[in-house]
Amino acid sequence: MIRTTYRGRAIKVLKARGNPHQRRLVINGQTISHGRQGDDVQALDWFRQIIDRIEECGGAGMVAMLIPNQYTEPHWYEPGMIDINPAGHATQPGGVCACQQCSIDDPCGGKGRYAPLPLDACQHCHQRRDGHRHDARFLYPHPYTEPTFTQRAGRQAAIDLAGAADDDPSEAMCDAIYSEKVPGHLGPPRCLHFADHRDATDPNFHDDARGFRWPRTSIQGAA
Ligand SMILES: [Zn+2]
Ligand SMILES: [Zn+2]
Ligand SMILES: [Zn+2]
Repeated sequence: MIRTTYRGRAIKVLKARGNPHQRRLVINGQTISHGRQGDDVQALDWFRQIIDRIEECGGAGMVAMLIPNQYTEPHWYEPGMIDINPAGHATQPGGVCACQQCSIDDPCGGKGRYAPLPLDACQHCHQRRDGHRHDARFLYPHPYTEPTFTQRAGRQAAIDLAGAADDDPSEAMCDAIYSEKVPGHLGPPRCLHFADHRDATDPNFHDDARGFRWPRTSIQGAA
């Protein structure tokens, strides 16, 4: 059995039940194989190779482009050093995921489907403190958790960059605010989509982080 940390990831290599020539592989608490052929040393070597390759290919968010749609899940990365977008994929703090599911083809160049997270988004998901709830796309239920210093710094840098590139309207946020009080919400619902709603399941509706939805036309400009 091996318990170690490699490049910030907690790794466990355990004997597979009933087979001395196989190992169970666990990274950041997530079992990724129940019976990999080989011994402890081979299993640890494999982990190191994969993690080195992930980092060489740009790390969270970017590796999914170079190794298509692989290593999008948060357990492949050092906890607290990544952001997790609404699809449950790991990104650099304040960054985007370049996998096919999280990007949109555009004649002018690919666009991220999900906006970088707001400064105060949770450490373990994309939601803010207000109305944080369990989302089935995440592995385990968790309460709202303050973001780490690294997450905040990356998000702030993305916000500064977006401000500097204000002439690019495709990156503008909707930020529409619902004008009436909603029971159970601490603050007024605020839309989390891009201004052009390309990231919305139904572009005719605003959605807030808690899943509250209202029509796009009727309450425009209520902020
Ligand atoms: Zn993705
Ligand atoms: Zn959360
Ligand atoms: Zn909106």
